[in-house]
Amino acid sequence: MNKADSKGLGESLGKLGYEQTEVAEEADVIVLNSCVVRQSAEERVINKLNSLKSLKRKRPHLLIVLTGCMVDGNQDGLKARFPHVDLFLRPQAWAPLLGSAKAGVPGGQSSIPPAPAISTLVNIIQGCDNFCSYCIVPYRRGREQSRPMDEVVCEVQSLVQRGAREVTLLGQNVNSYGHDLPTKADLADLLQELNQVDGLARIRFLTNHPKDLSPKLIRAIARWDKVCEHISLPVQAGSDEMLNAMRRGYTVELYRALVDRIRSQIPEVALSTDIIVGFPAETEGQFQQTLELLGDIQFDTIHVAAYSERPGTIAARLLKDDVPLHEKRRRLKEVEKLQRSIAAEINSRLLGHNVEVLVEGEKKGKWYGRTMTGKLVFFPNGADCLGRLVPIQIERTSPWSLQGSLDNQ
Ligand code: SAM
Ligand code: SF4
Repeated sequence: MNKADSKGLGESLGKLGYEQTEVAEEADVIVLNSCVVRQSAEERVINKLNSLKSLKRKRPHLLIVLTGCMVDGNQDGLKARFPHVDLFLRPQAWAPLLGSAKAGVPGGQSSIPPAPAISTLVNIIQGCDNFCSYCIVPYRRGREQSRPMDEVVCEVQSLVQRGAREVTLLGQNVNSYGHDLPTKADLADLLQELNQVDGLARIRFLTNHPKDLSPKLIRAIARWDKVCEHISLPVQAGSDEMLNAMRRGYTVELYRALVDRIRSQIPEVALSTDIIVGFPAETEGQFQQTLELLGDIQFDTIHVAAYSERPGTIAARLLKDDVPLHEKRRRLKEVEKLQRSIAAEINSRLLGHNVEVLVEGEKKGKWYGRTMTGKLVFFPNGADCLGRLVPIQIERTSPWSLQGSLDNQ
């Protein structure tokens, strides 16, 4: 989500004539787009902010901006802590920055629309209404707000005209898209519309909340050829007590039934999930239930995080963060170890198979891209393949990626 926001802000600054630089000392404007979903992310932002103090002293005209989820409604604390920051902007509330940047721009407006990446991100719904007990997102990004469907379709058409071949539709709860629109169009309707966009090869979307994954959406994924058979479906934990304390709104049984329904209709589907270990009062037995669920479901990929208390959330107010750090780390490592063997096994089944890859770029002398199911594939550099769908014969596999060669048959 932050990547998509940064891309949007970068494009807006580009339209005002600004150019991107990788060198902080050369910049006239530095924007830090912060994430505070876990304490470690917040600490990285704080370190970066502190490291900019000396630069601001040397170059007082430098405009330093902090945006993203670190900025909430009351900015007095932030202003006192970081007096060298010129602007504090809530997520996506960039108007004051664009105003200041316009006033200070040396070259004036640029009329050349930038070329997007082959695979590009498109926000379709902001915010979150769910208030999971551990999560700070609803407090910082506000309530759910969907973009009108015709606006999203126009943006995707424009991205395709500028070179994109794949879009990833984003939302904290992408599958609750549309419930707040007057038309009540939903994600399945949007996928149907986008499937008609000429030149677009693939459509992805994340992240889905299990409680909102409708039968209509599953049918749409199965039916529309450009919609990738890859579903992100965060489960968070494998015990009903933990899911209840997390306020997730489903049970393990409901989640398992949902996965069965998806797999019966989309047999090739790849599933990914998010896990939190060490949530308050999580016992060893409850943690083992998470491992059991992972073993049974066999996700293609998972993101695992140790619980991090976030001030102001329901869990921080009501529950004691009582699983010791070393124990959280041990659980995290166990999940990672189990998942490594599951992913190795799933990926090894592709050995010798021919897969279709959308080529996104070049790295270390090899082309890379993804399959419909989201597997990262590398193959040797030959003809110009950028943006093309190419058949690749898989010759080596690992838990994280696949290696192969162009299949010219
Ligand atoms: N909306 C999605 C969902 O329902 O799961 C995910 C968005 S959330 C911002 C991304 C992931 O961060 C979550 O799935 C969760 O695993 C993790 N996360 C959020 N708050 C956390 C916390 N306080 N401690 C550890 N992990 C957290
Ligand atoms: Fe956070 Fe839960 Fe909303 Fe996901 S659904 S963003 S975890 S509150």
